[in-house]
Amino acid sequence: MSATGEPSFRQSVDLMFNRAAALMDLPPGLEEKIRVCNATYTVRFGVRLRGEIRTFTGYRSVHSEHMEPAKGGIRFAPNVNQDEVEALASLMTYKCALVETPFGGSKGGLCIDPRHYDDFELEQITRRFAYELIKRDMINPAQNVPAPDMGTGEREMAVIADQYQRMNTTDINAKACVTGKPPHAGGIQGRVEATGRGVQYALQEFFRHPEDIAAAGLSGTLDGKRVVVQGLGNVGYHAAHFLSTEDGAIITHVIERDGVVSDPEGLNINALRDWIAENGGVRGFPGAEYHEEGLKALEAECDILIPAAIEGVINMHNAQSIKAPLIIEAANGPVTAGADEILRHKGTVIIPDLYANAGGVTVSYFEWVKNLSHIRFGRMQRRQEEARHQLIVDELERLSADPGINWQLTPNFKERYLRGAGELELVRSGLDDTMRAAYQSMREVWHTRNDVTDLRTAGFMVSIGRVAASYRAKGL
Ligand code: NAD
Repeated sequence: MSATGEPSFRQSVDLMFNRAAALMDLPPGLEEKIRVCNATYTVRFGVRLRGEIRTFTGYRSVHSEHMEPAKGGIRFAPNVNQDEVEALASLMTYKCALVETPFGGSKGGLCIDPRHYDDFELEQITRRFAYELIKRDMINPAQNVPAPDMGTGEREMAVIADQYQRMNTTDINAKACVTGKPPHAGGIQGRVEATGRGVQYALQEFFRHPEDIAAAGLSGTLDGKRVVVQGLGNVGYHAAHFLSTEDGAIITHVIERDGVVSDPEGLNINALRDWIAENGGVRGFPGAEYHEEGLKALEAECDILIPAAIEGVINMHNAQSIKAPLIIEAANGPVTAGADEILRHKGTVIIPDLYANAGGVTVSYFEWVKNLSHIRFGRMQRRQEEARHQLIVDELERLSADPGINWQLTPNFKERYLRGAGELELVRSGLDDTMRAAYQSMREVWHTRNDVTDLRTAGFMVSIGRVAASYRAKGL
């Protein structure tokens, strides 16, 4: 318990786990085996920078190896610590089980503020951290496969893959040692957008169920819904961008490190992202109102609140004041266990992190499979699919040319129907399918069991059930 009376991040995840496990009939001892983190490795290493040796501290935590490899991102942030990395690793176990990616849960972190280093320095630091983990098999295509998280992206993943290849020159599956790589370095189309895209698909699926919409006191579709977003990084930007440009949602507030900007008519998300890139923050964004007190905007009137930055931002201090009837946890752990209880009693519907941000690991799974199969998705069948469609189009055109038949093809039918799916379309289709199926597995528990009143508990129950089944299959 911290000085503020709030449990730590890891304790918070454990409390949520316990709530679900208490409603399940698990064999004695298995509950604890699933909950505990198997191992955490702490490494301290030095890198010569700017004429001196600087020492960095990093972690790699493996929560569960019921399936291998264990999977989970690497975070670069100044306040990374063991408790946080273990909490994130445990969430990875439950997330992977919920979206049926065949992985255990892991997570890594490096205590560093990447904004304080240039590209060359970051490469040296990343390479050295990767070296330390690779030599202990804590990065390995068969055992432990990292991905991006806060403060890391394609560039860091490319460096990790390169370092692994240098140290394992005869491993034909070397590229599968890490996901989230750039497409030209063994990555997959659609990975960068995947977590934000998954948040969009999760909301689309939620809005397909009138009973669930009503449970949040909402009605209608995503069109016109007022949305508050915290964190316009990889996840927050893509979620806000797709929801506003494809679903008609109105992003009224964006909260960043330096404050909040708002516009009741809706913020232009692409323009705001460019502004942040140029100016380092949201302050001064033309046409919007600015306030330095960003956290207060989590309490703004809106339909949907999307925390997409860091953990613990909705806690026992502000939970009672949160007005959003629907929260979707794009970030990991944005709602503490204490706040979760307050919000549940208020009737707020929370689409939980273990489901909401699983788009990243889902597309990472596709990338890992692509790397192991050494072939891009769609390469074999795309043209064959087009040729079969061509047969139908030719036949329809022959028929419509008959003067006795009075109909014509719609102008763009031909090109839309003829086009075979490329990698990006296949990735999006696989992600959409995954998000729909996982939501349905959660809502079935939510609606069929009287003792389950929220999606988080339902999600944990589905995940714990699957992990338990995997242990049982091993004879445990
Ligand atoms: P990111 O580094 O790309 O972006 C984080 C954004 O949040 C930045 O714009 C940063 O300025 C902002 N931010 C940081 N602290 C803030 C604060 N106190 N108040 C307001 N804004 C703040 O990180 P990301 O990859 O988008 O990750 C965000 C969250 O999503 C994390 O919780 C991460 O674990 C989770 N997540 C990420 C992925 C992924 O694929 N990248 C996958 C699953 C979950």
